[in-house]
Amino acid sequence: MDAWRRLSALMRRIQTVNAMRTWSRGLQRKGVTIGLVPTMGALHEGHRSLIRAARLACDAVAVSIFVNPLQFGPLEDFDRYPRSLAQDLRICRSAGVDTVFIPRAQEMYPADFETVVSVQRLTRRYEGLSRPGHFGGVTTVVTKLLNIIRPDKAFFGQKDYQQAVVVERLAKDLDLDTEIVVRPTVREPDGLALSSRNRHLSPEERKAATVLYRALSEGRELIRAGERSVRKVEAAMTRLIRAEPVVRLDYLAVVDPITLDEVRSVRGRVVLLLAVWIGETRLIDNLIVTAR
Ligand code: AMP
Repeated sequence: MDAWRRLSALMRRIQTVNAMRTWSRGLQRKGVTIGLVPTMGALHEGHRSLIRAARLACDAVAVSIFVNPLQFGPLEDFDRYPRSLAQDLRICRSAGVDTVFIPRAQEMYPADFETVVSVQRLTRRYEGLSRPGHFGGVTTVVTKLLNIIRPDKAFFGQKDYQQAVVVERLAKDLDLDTEIVVRPTVREPDGLALSSRNRHLSPEERKAATVLYRALSEGRELIRAGERSVRKVEAAMTRLIRAEPVVRLDYLAVVDPITLDEVRSVRGRVVLLLAVWIGETRLIDNLIVTAR
């Protein structure tokens, strides 16, 4: 076991930017590599898979747990967002996390805070249209976390596909010294992507929620069977979603995996992006599909 790990067998909980900086700079001086998994807590198997990937790729792992007020609109579910810190800490401990960074909102955004980091074109569509201001909050908090910790690698889920592309762009454009790693979506056995917001679903809504993956799979099967018309793929997916009375479609798009531009006919790799409302809960999902 490495000496630094023996010394820090207990998982650290850090609440201040200064203490977090001191922890990471101290390890980096010893040549220890750091992997960061940024989260908003209410941890599940999707987060665990990111932590596992970080443990495999880096010497030390930090998880941030911060329900970032800046990425929620005034009418969104910030107050209702699930919080389960005690359980999150147990999960982190059992997953071998070295440090959990749990800053308070005032620590990240003191009263005189006034900077917003903004990625332009990539954020003006899909999630950015449905949730004005959302990506400004995401890119600002990610920039802060990457500056505070300066991890060698930071791990994000494909589950939030547009977010992953935006963060990759941000890291490149601002010459951040962190490799962005995107890991596959972890799903329930029936295909529903794990999400902290799933715990809001009633039993009836939970059943209906399988329609996200069913619609995405239908799109993928059509493309695999040779369909190249995006209009037809979208029509088939929309039909499935409309058949679920408790589900309301927010957006559905077939896009280029890198530019996120909508495509009209399928060639090579595309991403099917989907967002729906189920009662009061908004869920998103996506699938990368390669036309053969
Ligand atoms: P969140 O706590 O929802 O902000 O998510 C923190 C990170 O976990 C983000 O990079 C998400 O994309 C990722 N994540 C959320 N759900 C999943 C999932 N089902 N599979 C893989 N990664 C996920």
